Amino acid sequence: MTDIQNHSKSEAQSLEHYWMPFTANRQFKANPRMLAEADGMYYKDTSGRAILDGTAGLWCCNAGHGRREISEAVSHQIKQMDYAPSFQMGHPLAFELAERLAQISPQGLNKVFFTNSGSESVDSALKIAINYHRANGEPTRTRFIGRELGYHGVGFGGISVGGIGGNRKAFSQQLLPGVDHLPHTLDMQGNAFTRGMPTTGAEKADVLEQLVALHGAENIAAVIVEPMSGSAGVILPPEGYLKRLREITQKYGILLIFDEVITAFGRVGDAFASQRWGVTPDLITTAKALNNGAIPMGAVLIDDKIYDASMQGPDGIELFHGYTYSGHPVAAAAALATLNIYDNEKLFERSRELEGYFEDAMHSLKDLPNVIDIRNIGLVGAIQLSPSNKGIGKRGFDVFERCFAKGTLVRATADIIAISPPLIIDKQEIDQIVNTLADAIRATD
Ligand code: PMP
Repeated sequence: MTDIQNHSKSEAQSLEHYWMPFTANRQFKANPRMLAEADGMYYKDTSGRAILDGTAGLWCCNAGHGRREISEAVSHQIKQMDYAPSFQMGHPLAFELAERLAQISPQGLNKVFFTNSGSESVDSALKIAINYHRANGEPTRTRFIGRELGYHGVGFGGISVGGIGGNRKAFSQQLLPGVDHLPHTLDMQGNAFTRGMPTTGAEKADVLEQLVALHGAENIAAVIVEPMSGSAGVILPPEGYLKRLREITQKYGILLIFDEVITAFGRVGDAFASQRWGVTPDLITTAKALNNGAIPMGAVLIDDKIYDASMQGPDGIELFHGYTYSGHPVAAAAALATLNIYDNEKLFERSRELEGYFEDAMHSLKDLPNVIDIRNIGLVGAIQLSPSNKGIGKRGFDVFERCFAKGTLVRATADIIAISPPLIIDKQEIDQIVNTLADAIRATD
């Protein structure tokens, strides 16, 4: 019996009570994978085994783990002031963080609303959009347009504009009314094994014109897309696609929301993906790497025109919305320390510098059995495997388990393996992830 099995047996009782999110609980509890420590590029499991982090946790820990600057900032702040009411009271760190975010955000997005997660950021952005149109004298603009395969968290707003069937099915009667979806941009026939952005497919944005013709621009509040779909398996926007969405939304007075919960803070080589691709939306939702995953925190970055109009709204209160923990002082302290690390260590630039090496390494897996697509940008990539005859997702999970057994953490979504390491990764560690993956892919049947 291995140490891990020993551990799982001795703790079997205590595993009963926690209902884990997005996890096959029974399967997990029969064979638990428990992480106990983290430092730099590595986790350690409860038996002390080192696990190379190929996923930055869940796309969160862009500065790597165990950063002293962050833990010191958190510890200092919790002693200084653990909590302050978020309504009708302020504290300096939340204002300082908003200012810092405005400095690195795309032009015009100078206002920040704080949340505690990506899901809350999305639901907040949807409300801000509707509220803006009302304040702006266009109260009929309430419809939203999302995109197939989009992931926008698990609030009712997020699953409604999201386009991943599994997240929606059980709640199909409770979804927001008035939501349509653009087609996704994955083209496995035409664009398989493209390095970086596919060159074809921008015209898929034109479906927005049809939806405008169908519903009337005067009824549409916003379009929300991830500039690069992360959770669905790293689906890149075709060249020109985001620009086209921007042109059409602008033409009809529809707000454009980029969900950058995954793509912000260097993942694709800039502070925000919208900068990498030169397209500025009206709102950006973010979370995760905002404070390196240290304390739950999210944010919505908002164009000045939306904030300004909202201040003139008819209700006497600008937006009846917020959270007990909006702009939490400890989370804000962690975020400021994180932004300092990104800045001092030039980690966004590092993501770009390593992109070519990472790309070559990922695409070296091209000729392995069952590999049907590889996609990459910045320090994020995915390998799509053909499903095994045991069912969808079985091969992906098998590869994930084999990698974990060999001491490397990757992420499996169905039969897609996503890699998104901390941006502090070096070339040798990239090789280690890719070599472990190659062995796992060869070993799977
Ligand atoms: N939007 C996107 C694009 C995401 O990737 C995620 C999380 N993976 C979310 C929203 C939801 O974030 P959270 O899990 O923090 O609610």
